[in-house]
Amino acid sequence: MAVTAVVGLQWGDEGKGKLVDALAARADYVVRYASGSNAGHTVIVNGRRFVFHIIPSGILHERTTCLVCRGVAFDPESFFSELKSLQEAGIAYENRLWISRRAHLVLPLHKLEDEALDRLLGIGTTKRGVGPCYADRAYRLGVRVIDLYCPTTLRQRIRTLLEVKSPLLRKAQIEPPSFDDLFSWCEDVARRLQRFVADTAGILQKALSSGAEILLEGAQGVMLDIDHGTYPYVTSCHPATDGISSGCGINIVPQRVIGVLKCYTTRVGAGPFPTEEKGDIGETLRRRGGEFGATTSRPRRCGWLDLPALKYACRIAAPTHLFVTKLDVLAELEKIKVCSAYRIGADVLTEFPADISVLEKVEPLFREFCGWGDVKGVEAFSRLPSQALEFLAFIEEELGVEVGGVSVGSERMELLERQT
Ligand code: GDP
Repeated sequence: MAVTAVVGLQWGDEGKGKLVDALAARADYVVRYASGSNAGHTVIVNGRRFVFHIIPSGILHERTTCLVCRGVAFDPESFFSELKSLQEAGIAYENRLWISRRAHLVLPLHKLEDEALDRLLGIGTTKRGVGPCYADRAYRLGVRVIDLYCPTTLRQRIRTLLEVKSPLLRKAQIEPPSFDDLFSWCEDVARRLQRFVADTAGILQKALSSGAEILLEGAQGVMLDIDHGTYPYVTSCHPATDGISSGCGINIVPQRVIGVLKCYTTRVGAGPFPTEEKGDIGETLRRRGGEFGATTSRPRRCGWLDLPALKYACRIAAPTHLFVTKLDVLAELEKIKVCSAYRIGADVLTEFPADISVLEKVEPLFREFCGWGDVKGVEAFSRLPSQALEFLAFIEEELGVEVGGVSVGSERMELLERQT
């Protein structure tokens, strides 16, 4: 299969990093096309934990070329700290990691702006400056990687940004950085980044024509998409299939789209969550699933699998296959619930509501499954306990998409591909 995309079907944190790492073993190119350092992909190899925010998880396979394309809100601080962890682990990245000239930079100013907005409006972001970076792109005030190498443009952009943003920062009692500080930060980044800067769309174009195996690494999830998600509790870009072509900078249509979902639901921060479990069950899921954000360590809210939300996500992302993670987390629960529909008053909703005030009021209708016991150490998909297979068959039937594999633990090898 020449082009494969891996996208999250829930509110992010589905375990995409692990699947990307597994698929990257067969890929020539691994590509990040959207989102920024507010996304965190975790890969565990032989007990060593890598968290990537900007660099594609495929970097751990030394045969792959990794691209950070135009659609990524590029945070140099995160990038350099990820490079350091690769260095420490002895993973070579020179001449196989490229950053788009057209990617927009997350500046220290954007992080301060996130902090200011949080203080003034309490919007609860990861404070990574990603929203302000994308907003400045739309305002036509942004600084792109290429602008780092044009001092006249850079000076003018920094001046304008400081003029526009300083009043907001001061209102939140934050002292804006000086022009000189910001300019010298950019000069330092320009120097350290130069050898990674490339025409990533051109590289991808050539890769496509040569029939190379390309893996597109989605970040976050459909339900966090700025347009399709539970607005305004969303991210500021299109992290799933919508964002692929514009984010890569060339028209690229994956032949295989793998939609990743956990066998329960989590979300970070505020926003409606119909299947949320606030009591013991939620606590058990959080503890067993290690549900604390890879970016901020915030505890994730936990609840049962939500099929109406997933049906909606499948309509948007059009996965050709599903990959279901964390079956081991539900092991040992006696009863496992799945929300199959929402009810509001006397009505059963057939559509996922666009109005979040409706979503806040819905009552989930559950179907119950028997627990499946321990799945660690199971060596083949077909050898999963019958209760787990029944649960997966139900998801498949409801979503109309085949389950291509599952994950039964956090380690690289704990992944079962379905043989067809
Ligand atoms: P991503 O953003 O979709 O890559 O998800 P994260 O990396 O933020 O969160 C997934 C977490 O779940 C990571 O810590 C993974 O190591 C872990 N994980 C992935 N698959 C499994 C699994 O099947 N079982 C368990 N217990 N953990 C898993």
